[in-house]
Amino acid sequence: MPVFRQPRPNPLSNPEFDRASHRRLDEPWLEVTRISAEAHVVPVWRAKGLVVAGQDFRRAVTISADRFEWASALDTVFLGQAGGRPYFAADISGLAPDDIAQRYGSHGVFEDMRMVGAVLPNHEAALLAYAKGMLWWHERHRFCGVCGSPTRSVDGGHRRLCTNESCKAEQFPRSDPAVIMLIEHEDKCLLARGARFPANFISVLAGFVEPGESLEDTVAREVFEECGVRVHDIAYASSQPWPFPSSLMLGFRAKAADPTLKLDPAEILEADWYTRAQVRAIAANGPMSMEPGGPVRIPPPFSISRRLIDDWVSEE
Ligand SMILES: [Zn+2]
Repeated sequence: MPVFRQPRPNPLSNPEFDRASHRRLDEPWLEVTRISAEAHVVPVWRAKGLVVAGQDFRRAVTISADRFEWASALDTVFLGQAGGRPYFAADISGLAPDDIAQRYGSHGVFEDMRMVGAVLPNHEAALLAYAKGMLWWHERHRFCGVCGSPTRSVDGGHRRLCTNESCKAEQFPRSDPAVIMLIEHEDKCLLARGARFPANFISVLAGFVEPGESLEDTVAREVFEECGVRVHDIAYASSQPWPFPSSLMLGFRAKAADPTLKLDPAEILEADWYTRAQVRAIAANGPMSMEPGGPVRIPPPFSISRRLIDDWVSEE
């Protein structure tokens, strides 16, 4: 019998964090804990997380719950606990930039998590990503999709309920599954520049799962649609939460039957097969840059795309 080993976690996931889901239904506990000194709040302002920046580091900043201005929170979510400390997320997007500078300036600055995620300690990046993903879901589900009435947050922020008594439809936080796949042919892998990528940036292929598809169906369809290649031996590798805004990336490996490429110009601007030596040389060009005209680059280590590439390169 083959032994299934859980893949090493990717950045932004933190299996050590206790989501303490049994507390979500414990209203009295939530009410007391939410304003206690032991609990901490992860403030999220317009999809950005609060960080303090040093010369060569960033750290996430949380606020003691008894000192947090709860009146400024549009939505609140009980996230769980770590090291015995309960954590809540609060959406303070209603505050104007001047208010943010005045109230939070002494704590740090709000930064785009996609930019700072790579430089934060992973447990902090994962906490901010979880908070951001939950609050984005709340922001987009204030009204019932069935009858159009307002919804309200229940279960510590992990469910929304329609306020129309004759409807009462429920909504749950969601993640949108997307596959991302490294395709091999003999001793080369397929890397491509998507139409939305910066210049001189190449990566593995990816695409959203459609209703009625298995993950393997999506891998095969996307590779064929984008590059005209039929694949076989499709195998799961690992996954990564990617709450920008709400994806779950599911990583795969697959083999190409024939290396001939036929690109869809609407999706893929260029694609080619690369040897391990070529990929190593590209990796040495350093992190991704938005500047035009620089050397070719691959994704930063923070992403599952790079994990798929690095794992393949290391197999030589
Ligand atoms: Zn409704």
